[in-house]
Amino acid sequence: MFSKTDIKNLLENPRLAAPVASLYVNTDRGSPEGERYIASFRHVVHKADRALRRRPDAEAAIAQDRMTQALPELLAFLDQEVKPVPVIRGVALFVSLRAPNPRDPRTPPFTAFTLPRPLRNQAWVENRPSIRPLLFLLDQYERVGVIVADRNHARIFTLFLGEIEEIRRRTADTPRRHHQGGWKQMLFQRDIDGHIKAHVRATVREAVNLFGRDHLKRIVLGGGDETLGLLKTELPLRLHSLIAGTFLAEPHASDTELATAALALAHGAEIREEQQRVQELVDHLAHRPSFVRGPHHPEAVSGIRETLRALSERRVRRLLIGRGIRMPGSVCDNCSALCTETRGRCPYCSFSLRLVLDILEHAVERAQEQSADVEFVTDNASLTAVGGVGAFLRF
Ligand SMILES: [Zn+2]
Repeated sequence: MFSKTDIKNLLENPRLAAPVASLYVNTDRGSPEGERYIASFRHVVHKADRALRRRPDAEAAIAQDRMTQALPELLAFLDQEVKPVPVIRGVALFVSLRAPNPRDPRTPPFTAFTLPRPLRNQAWVENRPSIRPLLFLLDQYERVGVIVADRNHARIFTLFLGEIEEIRRRTADTPRRHHQGGWKQMLFQRDIDGHIKAHVRATVREAVNLFGRDHLKRIVLGGGDETLGLLKTELPLRLHSLIAGTFLAEPHASDTELATAALALAHGAEIREEQQRVQELVDHLAHRPSFVRGPHHPEAVSGIRETLRALSERRVRRLLIGRGIRMPGSVCDNCSALCTETRGRCPYCSFSLRLVLDILEHAVERAQEQSADVEFVTDNASLTAVGGVGAFLRF
């Protein structure tokens, strides 16, 4: 399973010398596009090739040759690593297209991620790996802990990228209830309640143990009338803020059904969080900060131009970006400034600017380098109204 650390390592991988082709292929064999994933892969390679043709320099010609050289190994990877594993629904390949060292003319080095989520077929050739789709997946499918318990059984699992990572099961031998009167019966009912409570307590303890190992973003609780309230009270208070929701679970629901219910609640919480962050941004922009700061330190900016400037100056704490937004811009290869201009010279160092087709891909990378959070926002009119992107600043 890949994580933000893998993305960081990818960006710093010395074997992936520029230029780097980033190839994203949908291999979801439940979809028509993913079923023909070899054709999709070839299409993506063709796209990378076309991007190189637009750059008529010597380096681009070499890179095209290197792409052709890399093909057999990439196809072998798809055949050996992806074909036998139907749960791999997306593949990200990063290939260094640098000219070979004459003493070491092997095929171009590449790095691959296999993912349980489908990806859109796409390709870039840039100086660095293009990581936006990977960060998007991590943002949308962060790790969720799920605890489901009825009076006799419990299932505890973690979901990462929407898939069950690890599952644990517990069984208790809670006695059946009888509907008769009398004081003996009352004692018996109390005994049953005690059994259920002990079962839920042990379940939560085991869950906390399992969840403690990984960084969890949310927790979802499922159960019946007898257990749902107990699950909540037994969960340590420090974890309550992570609860994304609770649901009534059928005792015989399959693992997949439980995972689907939990994911829907986690997704709802993600959307609410996005809306909240956008609202916070809009409030800051309207000069209504939640705490007092000097008048000359804006805490947030919006719009592509201001956001790129803040990223170039390494001031961003959190980047908000509309999910599908793309626009051309330019990068300064001398001081690494990001600009909205598509021609001319760098406003910081006067070096000539290099045109890029999607400046937001670079914005996301730059945010990652600054250890800023990147929040992808889905269909939010308020964010669109302030320019589709924005950022909270460190200073
Ligand atoms: Zn510059």
